[in-house]
Parts: sequence; structure tokens; C-alpha cells
Amino acid sequence: MNFHDSERMIGILRDEGYNLTDNPDEADLIIFNTCSIREKAEQKFYSDLGRLRKLKKTNPGLKIGVGGCIAQQEGKRIFGRVPYVNLVLGPQNIESLPDLIGTEKSTSLEDRPDNSKTYIHPHRLDRIKAWVTIMYGCDNFCSYCVVPYTRGRERARPWKDIHREVKGLSEAGYKEITLLGQNVNSYGSGLEDGMDFTDLLYKIHSMDGIKRIRFITSHPKDLSKKLVRAMKELSKVCEHIHLPLQSGSDSVLYLMKRVYTYSDYKEKIELLRAEIPGIAITSDIITGFPGESEEDFEKTVKALKEINYDGIFAFKYSKRPNTSAVKLPYHMPDEVKAERLTRVLDIQDEITLRKNKELIGKEVGVLVEGKSKIGEDKMTGRTRTNKIVNFSGKTDLIGQEIKLRIIEARHHSLEGEI
Ligand code: SAH
Ligand code: SF4
Repeated sequence: MNFHDSERMIGILRDEGYNLTDNPDEADLIIFNTCSIREKAEQKFYSDLGRLRKLKKTNPGLKIGVGGCIAQQEGKRIFGRVPYVNLVLGPQNIESLPDLIGTEKSTSLEDRPDNSKTYIHPHRLDRIKAWVTIMYGCDNFCSYCVVPYTRGRERARPWKDIHREVKGLSEAGYKEITLLGQNVNSYGSGLEDGMDFTDLLYKIHSMDGIKRIRFITSHPKDLSKKLVRAMKELSKVCEHIHLPLQSGSDSVLYLMKRVYTYSDYKEKIELLRAEIPGIAITSDIITGFPGESEEDFEKTVKALKEINYDGIFAFKYSKRPNTSAVKLPYHMPDEVKAERLTRVLDIQDEITLRKNKELIGKEVGVLVEGKSKIGEDKMTGRTRTNKIVNFSGKTDLIGQEIKLRIIEARHHSLEGEI
């Protein structure tokens, strides 16, 4: 989501006559697009910002901006902490960038409940896959999460705007789109046309050009049978879902305000696996939430072993401003959170590797994205189940869906051959 917000900011700045540079020494304007989901991201941002002090001295005309959720959370306080910052703008205020860049010091941090109707032409950084925002904000107020405070209330983008954007992408030759929202399954509330997320999938599926449709993120409470049926019926919708569990313990889930139990969640996993054979399922896990006993934590471990995810993102619980979990009793020492995090990651690594190894010898369809980061003249792409496959091949395969045989499996990628 932040990546795509950056694409939108770059789009606006290009219209204002700016060009992109990889070299900070050359820049007239540097904008940090920040994340405040966990404290660590925040600390990293301040140390990166500190490194610009020297540059600002040698190039006093350089403007420095702070966008994203830390900007929203900290507002004008950023000027007090780092005086050489010129502009501060929240994630709901991207469209005010042109007004801000002409000033010495300014902020734009208002709640913009109407911005779901403003279209910003993003500058896409990829030629094969594209991100399309379908909704802004979040109304769920999970007790640990800062998003509803920084990104505001949930607002759905109207179909005609999404349609125009997807049509443009398909005409430009994009092959894959990922629909973005904090809780895509609840898409539609507040819209006059009565559309829901499943209707949106059917409509996008019927458009020419795009070969693969993905979406993130799904909230388990809103994952309906109707959506599972759509995923099964629509051949362009990929066999992958990111469905964050957060914890395997019902009492922790209750304190997190996730409004489902582990057994509700498992029922949905069983339905997904029964209806969509081979579906890959990934998840997010938080360790050391306030009050998480060893017994609660063991339930998360048990859940990982029962569900056998294809992969997870796991995080130590981090206290976030304004969130209700801050006031809960029994916050855990960092060592406990960290030790549990390591255990979770170790267990999942083993599961992921085992699942990846099951693919050795099998043939998979891969959309070729470009040259691989691992170098060695390798190309890279993804399966419909969102697994990365590296292989030896020519660059003219980029954008094509090809068949590869898997010959090796690692924790985070596979190796294939044509
Ligand atoms: N809207 C999405 C993603 C939210 S942020 C969703 O509901 O799943 C991505 C992940 O960050 C969350 O799923 C959660 O696991 C993690 N996260 C959010 N706030 C956190 C916090 N305070 N401490 C640790 N992890 C957190
Ligand atoms: Fe945060 Fe919960 Fe909303 Fe996800 S659903 S963004 S975790 S409040």
C-alpha cells in the first residue's frame, strides 16, 4: 500500500515537472513515505532522516518532505524534532503535494473523507503488475493497530473510477493487478450502487487484457461464501489469499478485537481448501500481545502446525499511540516477545520449506516479471499461488505466462527450468 502511495506521489510530482533520481545528491526534493505500523519502522525513518542533515548543508535549496503514517501521527512535532524538514503530509493528503512544494514550511494533515473520488495518476514503477486502490482507511479498530487513526475511516472508490484505471492498465499491457485495501472484503459500504467486493471481482474479470487478479488484505470476519465461490469461478483470480490470523488463542483474539474465534477462522480455511484446490494461504502473526500467556502462545504454535500456511509475516507486538491495547494490563517484556517471535518464525520456516519441496518435479505456470535479484543472469516470476520462481531464460519472456518445472526449493523462493 505504501509502495503504491509512493507511485501516486511520484505521479503528481511528474505532472509538476519533477523527474525521479536514485541519487540523493542530485535531488531538489526528497520525500519519505513513512510507515508507523510498528515502532521499529518509525525508528528507522528518523535515523534515515538524520542522515540527510549533511546533504541539506551542502545543498540548502534541497526540500525535504515527510509523507505517510508517521507524518499523520506526529504532524508539526516533526518540525520540532528535525528542523530541516519542509513539508509534512498525511496519507489522505497526497493530492495537496503541489501546494506544499512551493512553501518553506507547511503541513497537510486533514481527514479527507471525500478523497475516495479524487483520481491521482500514479507513476507505475513496474510494467507487468500494477496496484489499484479500491478503498481507503479502515473501520475495524483492532486494538493494536494505528491504521484507523492515520488513514482515517473506510471509504470505497466508486466503480467508474476503478474501471477507468483498470481499463487504462489493460490498454497499457499490464498483465496482473492487485486490488488494495486494508479490508477488501468489506468493499462497497457507503457506495450508492450497492456493489460489494465479489461484484467488483466479477466486473474486473470480464474486462479484457488483465490475466491475473490478486487482492490484499482480507479480514477473516468478512470472508464470505460468496467470495469463495467467486474465487473458484473466476479463472483470473489467483489461488492465493492473505488471511491474517494474528493469534491462535481466542482470549487474545478477543482482546485484539478481531471478532472471530480460532474455530471460526479454521472453518473458513477448510472451506477455501475444499473449494479451491491448491490454494496458497498466508497470514500475519503478532507475538507477545499484552496478556498473552505461554498457554495462549502455544495455541498460536498449534494453529501454525494445523493450518500449514504457505508463508507468514510475524511481528513482535509494538505499542502504538492512540490504540486501545496500550491501556491493557500485562504488557510483555521485549525478551518474551522476541523469543516467541523466533519460535514462530522457526516453525513456519520448516513448514514453508516442506511445502515448497512438495513442488519439486511439478510443472507450474509462471508470469515472468523481469530479471532476478539473485543475479547469475536469472529471470524471475511468480506462480498463481504467489511463489517466487527463478530460472534461466531470455528477457523476451517478460510479461509472458510460461510453464516451468520446479527443480529446487528454498525458504523464500523456488528454482525452475523451462
Ligand atoms: N489491514 C491489514 C493489514 C494491517 S497491517 C489486516 O488487517 O490484516 C499488517 C500487519 O501488521 C497486521 O496484520 C498485524 O499483524 C501487524 N501489526 C499491526 N499493528 C501492529 C502492532 N501494533 N504490533 C505488531 N504488529 C502489528
Ligand atoms: Fe489495522 Fe485491523 Fe484495520 Fe487491519 S483490519 S488495518 S489490522 S485495524
